[in-house]
Amino acid sequence: MKKELLAPKYAREFMCTGPKCPEDCCQENWTINIDTKTYELYQKDLKLNALVMPHMQVNNSRQTKDANPATFKHKPVTGGCSLQLANGLCKIQKEFGEKALSATCAIYPRIYNALGSDQLISMSESCPEIAKVLITDPVALQLEFGEVNVWDRMIFQNETEFNTQYQERYHLLQGLISILQHRKLSFEMRLFVCSLLIPRADTLLQQLNSEPDSSEANPSEADNSKQSMKALLQNFYTLIDDGYFNNQANQLNNAEPSGLDLVILQDLMTEKKQKNEFSLILAKTLLSLGATRSEDLNYETVDKLQALRSQWLTPFEQEYPHAFENIVVNWLLQSLFPINNIRLADGWLNITTRYLLLRTLLTGVAAFNQGLNLKTATHCLYHFGRNLSNSGQLKRLLLELVGKGQNQPAAFIRSLKL
Ligand code: SF4
Repeated sequence: MKKELLAPKYAREFMCTGPKCPEDCCQENWTINIDTKTYELYQKDLKLNALVMPHMQVNNSRQTKDANPATFKHKPVTGGCSLQLANGLCKIQKEFGEKALSATCAIYPRIYNALGSDQLISMSESCPEIAKVLITDPVALQLEFGEVNVWDRMIFQNETEFNTQYQERYHLLQGLISILQHRKLSFEMRLFVCSLLIPRADTLLQQLNSEPDSSEANPSEADNSKQSMKALLQNFYTLIDDGYFNNQANQLNNAEPSGLDLVILQDLMTEKKQKNEFSLILAKTLLSLGATRSEDLNYETVDKLQALRSQWLTPFEQEYPHAFENIVVNWLLQSLFPINNIRLADGWLNITTRYLLLRTLLTGVAAFNQGLNLKTATHCLYHFGRNLSNSGQLKRLLLELVGKGQNQPAAFIRSLKL
């Protein structure tokens, strides 16, 4: 079916490459959930039932079994989906069409979020096709409202309440995207400006939160409060145009390095060793830094990381100048930051930590290979999406940053090298 949705250009144009995909999602050892509606369909349709039954297993997880009563089995050796044919195609889709797929299979790599009364699509960088487009297409994140093909049995989230608090956060989202896409500044400068904006916006939202929702009591008061986030953003736009942040950045470049990079490197070192592509990326990074044991880590390692970045990653960043911008803006849309984050500082910490992690890994691999090409960068990005972007490992790292006092925007700013 077709539906009017807000979607970035890359989501509108996405086509799964299926058997041509370098590492398709069906080969991954992921849990493939069967949602309640699809489960009912599999029970009712006898032919479909005969095909899927030998491949289904009951979901015993108390937390998820109501929404997803079963999952598909994996192939014992490869760990891929047991319903994938040798030519890479899906047996269910081939014999019964897209309508017979479970929501997980039909929707991936799309992510749907309610944005006020609209629906917004973004996509996961864990898909190789998306990773490539995010790196290469300068206008991938151009947002447009219009008709998009959606899966027939798609159930959308209810629309979010559009109260004053929500509107302020919506303005902030728009402001952050504008700053992150302000290409007259280097991308580090844009992250720096956003990191200064977040604490101010947080204070503003807390003030607003402590007041009753003025939109219900007095619409004109709501207009005033609406202007306050707009006024804050306007103030920042003016300061950008006046070059105010350049002076601040110059002063910061002479400051002591933050311990944030060290905590991140330490964390990468303790990543659970599995025999997969992501551990190879990790191993290359640590070898490039000459840091394979925790004892090797010190501020010289951080300096070495910066030097390797200038030598090996910067040429790639110059060739694909909008890659990091697209990736970070995409994370904003995926998590609907700052709308879905009660505490702005936590949401921003999540995004900036992911950025530093990805930048470190790309630097390490670029240094190991003595250069970075599109194919390798794409490979690193989708494995990053599959292994780290929303993982328990990332959550643990974020907690560690809080515990070590490295969770403030100031620590991130000192890692930027402006
Ligand atoms: S990972 Fe992406 S391109 Fe590859 S098979 Fe899955 S959806 Fe298609």
